[in-house]
Amino acid sequence: MMALLDDTHDPTLESWIESANDSNTDFPIQNLPFGRFRRAADMDWRIGVAIGDQILDLRRARLISGYDMNQLMSLGREAQRALRLAISQGLRRGSAQQPEWEEREALVASASVEMALPCQIGDYTDFYTSIHHATAVGKLFRPDNPLLPNYKWVPIGYHGRSSSIIPSGTDFRRPLGQTRAADATVPMVGPSRRLDYELELAALVGKRNPLGEAVPIGEAEEHLFGLALFNDWSARDIQPWEYQPLGPFLSKNFASTLSPWVVTLDALAPFRVPYQRPAGDPDPLPYLDSKANREAGAFDIMLEVWLQTAAMRAAGSPGERLSRCNYRDAYWTLAQLVAHHTVNGCNLQPGDLLGSGTLSGPQPDEAGSLLELTAGGKRLIELANGESRSFLEDGDKVSLRAFCERPGARRIGFGECAGTVLPASTTVERR
Ligand code: CA
Repeated sequence: MMALLDDTHDPTLESWIESANDSNTDFPIQNLPFGRFRRAADMDWRIGVAIGDQILDLRRARLISGYDMNQLMSLGREAQRALRLAISQGLRRGSAQQPEWEEREALVASASVEMALPCQIGDYTDFYTSIHHATAVGKLFRPDNPLLPNYKWVPIGYHGRSSSIIPSGTDFRRPLGQTRAADATVPMVGPSRRLDYELELAALVGKRNPLGEAVPIGEAEEHLFGLALFNDWSARDIQPWEYQPLGPFLSKNFASTLSPWVVTLDALAPFRVPYQRPAGDPDPLPYLDSKANREAGAFDIMLEVWLQTAAMRAAGSPGERLSRCNYRDAYWTLAQLVAHHTVNGCNLQPGDLLGSGTLSGPQPDEAGSLLELTAGGKRLIELANGESRSFLEDGDKVSLRAFCERPGARRIGFGECAGTVLPASTTVERR
């Protein structure tokens, strides 16, 4: 897991794709994230790599022979590093492949294609790795005892549903569900009135582990392909009525949006940081602890949430940033999540998605959900155009963004993870 820096990370590298050399692009030659795209609805989904405002079609470039992203992800980190090097060398200024790739039309403008989910999503596990989120949410329900006693020992998680994970840009309906008002004795069914987003990162599993064989923490990252942005939309009025005793259910599984580009752990190598717990906190149990994890198990990734209301859209405004935070503040690292998930012998498979859980920073304005930013809906957020929000309204578009930046490294980004809330279906109410 040590930061393996090689010449693909050289900050002075430039590409013959000029847009990749723009200092503001999320996709310079040092990034090379993977996704799936198609040129037209009647064409195959293909595996591509984002470079500036273009996509390199790996099959047309003759770098791979297949179409199956999960298969590519399953090959493991060593094969992926070799592929990353070949892509980097081919895209460098003055590369020998440029004429051939141009002749084969191996590059296509990102704006002209449709993006899919980056892979076939297998099982979906959502964790709860932000202690700041867990504490802030806990305070809303248990002011005197916000953090449950297991939190600093167990990476808390639950099994979600993958069928409703949708690609960025897919709009979805406000969910209906069962809720019970605080002063009511009988619940009702209807559209959620407390619809929220959750700012998360999704780790996608690459190499599988056989059933019954735990992955030691020292090998954990060999089983991860990379990270994407993930918005785990949540209905805050359905959630409290249904979640006890078995956990979240219909408040979470109506839609979760995943960004199209997977930033590999190799691309993130320059942005590793030490993993530290506050003084006085218990050390993790030995299976969740290693020297490498302490030295460089966390990642410095800035995350942002943007809101564009229907009124902003009509006025031509790109929207307003609601919050930002950093992934380095998470309480558990990626390696710890894999080691814990498999400690009982559970088998992870290519395409499985491990959500970080809502990521919030230590400051109140660094919260990754409206639930926290509005103190449970009690404190309105005033927007610059005069509108205000407690929870999301129909027509609201939420976009997540992320980037990594530090002196001595080229800035890389994650692109966008966006979705717009459509009005609820009226089916239930008509009955
Ligand atoms: Ca979540």
